[in-house]
Amino acid sequence: MAIERTLSIIKPDGLKNHHIGEIISRFEKAGLTPVAIRLQQLSQKEAEGFYAVHSARGFFKDLVSFMTSGPVVVMALEGENAVLKNRDLMGATDPKKADKGTIRADFAQSIDANTVHGSDSLENAKNEIAYFFRETEIQKY
Ligand code: UDP
Repeated sequence: MAIERTLSIIKPDGLKNHHIGEIISRFEKAGLTPVAIRLQQLSQKEAEGFYAVHSARGFFKDLVSFMTSGPVVVMALEGENAVLKNRDLMGATDPKKADKGTIRADFAQSIDANTVHGSDSLENAKNEIAYFFRETEIQKY
């Protein structure tokens, strides 16, 4: 299987509820290694740019407002089949529909405050990692 990189974001609710450690632990146990990591407050512009694909959707304004309501953790995760593996660990967008044992089923409150973001394709992963990290910020170990 191919070694891939994917972008993960722990959203403001994940930080406010003190789940950073447990979420990263799940990634590491599943063979997804954080190769770049930063805790940061997104500006409105950064959040709007990141979610530009959803700009015409009814939930866009609330999504941007939620994503800027507190700091987030942005990470590049590396491992075998990283894009799909991360999506499996996250669970469905709506935590009520997420499989038991997934991050969203265990920690998320609602479809808007759903604790984590994860790239949904290898192509998006490349663009999303480049949105947050320079190549020199990505480490090998
Ligand atoms: N979202 C929302 N309401 C909706 C659909 C999506 O608030 O009806 C938010 C939710 O936080 C989701 C994000 O918009 O994580 C991006 O939506 P997408 O469909 O890409 O879901 P994801 O890839 O995050 O599972």
